[in-house]
Amino acid sequence: MKFWVNKEIVDSEDVTFHPLSTALKYGAGVFEGIRGYWNADQEQLHIFRLDDHLKRLQDSAKILRFEEVPSSEEITEGLIELLRDGGMATDVHIRIQIFVDNVGGYLNERGPVRALISAVPMGRHNGGKGQHVGVSSWRRINDSTMPPRVKSVANYENSTLAHIEAVRHGYNDAVILTASGHVSEGPGYNVFVRRGDQLMTPMVTDGILEGITRDSIIKLGRSIGIDVIERSIDRTELYVADEVFFVGTAAELTPIFSVDGIQIGDGDIGEYNNQLRTHYLEIARNEVEDSFGWLTSVSVKEGD
Ligand code: PMP
Repeated sequence: MKFWVNKEIVDSEDVTFHPLSTALKYGAGVFEGIRGYWNADQEQLHIFRLDDHLKRLQDSAKILRFEEVPSSEEITEGLIELLRDGGMATDVHIRIQIFVDNVGGYLNERGPVRALISAVPMGRHNGGKGQHVGVSSWRRINDSTMPPRVKSVANYENSTLAHIEAVRHGYNDAVILTASGHVSEGPGYNVFVRRGDQLMTPMVTDGILEGITRDSIIKLGRSIGIDVIERSIDRTELYVADEVFFVGTAAELTPIFSVDGIQIGDGDIGEYNNQLRTHYLEIARNEVEDSFGWLTSVSVKEGD
């Protein structure tokens, strides 16, 4: 497997970190996970909302005060080079990582950084199956401790605690509440809740990562006449919801069939989820017009 590392394409075995690198000592890294959707008829790989992911990456690095981060243009060039080098004519998951790679430094060392890009084939998350989730006893990190809007490596320890607990309790995954008890998000996904004809999702100030899929679903929903609102959501609203679903780059739209053992709606994929998921994937694969301007289309085959 090959990586793009600070402007060069290298084999993964040749990517090394010093054991005293700040990246390893303190988990000093930010990253993005992005999907590329292959359209065989068009022979094009469509990268979903690349510019928005790169903006979030720069924002994460800015909040954590990383120094001399490569520009979004440099990263885009590197990514396209890597995709062409690998001839990635398939659905892919792209990971862009920026690590502080100072050796032996203390907490105030924020550079130099190392930028790495990988792209691996990826199909449907969890086979697209509905999930049974439990509300976690762990609470979500918040903006005054570990800002959740930063997509940092270290933040995932909070997600991991919740996920491990959920699996140990026999669930597929977790819903995490804010310290004040409102619904925040899943370990790697935002959450949507439908009650009647209203679709709701927690506000960006409820301890969430500001998901790009979340934003896409809000925009897509409104464009087809769905009443989508952002507001704080109580735990018990999950139990009485008509539909609950997770959204995220990897998860796309994943239905939740039960919460804490309580069946949601009729325990199957809901009508809004179904409609939005179909629409979302048609846009992502460029099967319908990309009227939002969300796709970066790349020719990845040799000779293109
Ligand atoms: N919340 C968390 C904690 C996540 O890790 C992710 C996945 N990146 C999301 C939400 C969804 O974000 P996005 O739609 O941008 O992938």
